[in-house]
Amino acid sequence: MPSLLGHAVAGLAITSAFHREKLPRRTWALAAVCAMAPDLDWFVGFLHVHRGHAFNHRGAAHSLFAALLIATVVFFLGFRRDQRRWGVGLCLAVAAVSHGLLDACTSGGVGVALFMPFSDTRWACVWQPGWVAPLPMGHEHVHTFLASLWSEAFWIGLPALLMASWGRLIRRVSLRPALSEAVPESL
Ligand SMILES: [Zn+2]
Repeated sequence: MPSLLGHAVAGLAITSAFHREKLPRRTWALAAVCAMAPDLDWFVGFLHVHRGHAFNHRGAAHSLFAALLIATVVFFLGFRRDQRRWGVGLCLAVAAVSHGLLDACTSGGVGVALFMPFSDTRWACVWQPGWVAPLPMGHEHVHTFLASLWSEAFWIGLPALLMASWGRLIRRVSLRPALSEAVPESL
């Protein structure tokens, strides 16, 4: 998987793409939470279940179904009734779905069970530009971890920066008043 930081950055970048919806401020933080949440299944490893088990890392919790479930729970628990708009829900869902897709694009880990519970096949992208972030961290993993962070900076951070900059540019253009509105007509 990319690191939690990489997933959070992806969630923030996705939120920036929904700027026209004028989302509540908390959407930024909660979209990042949705983007990171599937990795909670990493703790299942402490239960010593076998590697291919449905609830092991990159299993059911990384599926598209789980992503929609996570987004739905966050949508209803994290937002007041008057804040629950379709743009908020869609933003959370896309952020949550991004997790499994990004994981499938990292080399070095097991595949992702994207279609659980309908299929337990583990999927991996043919092209895997990202490097998996090693967990648990130890002295022997520091170099690999730094290399994976560098990989994330390029493959996640850079597109996120471009997406956020593009959104900011569009927002500025759309907020600029038309000339006829800015300058009152002279008598
Ligand atoms: Zn993951």
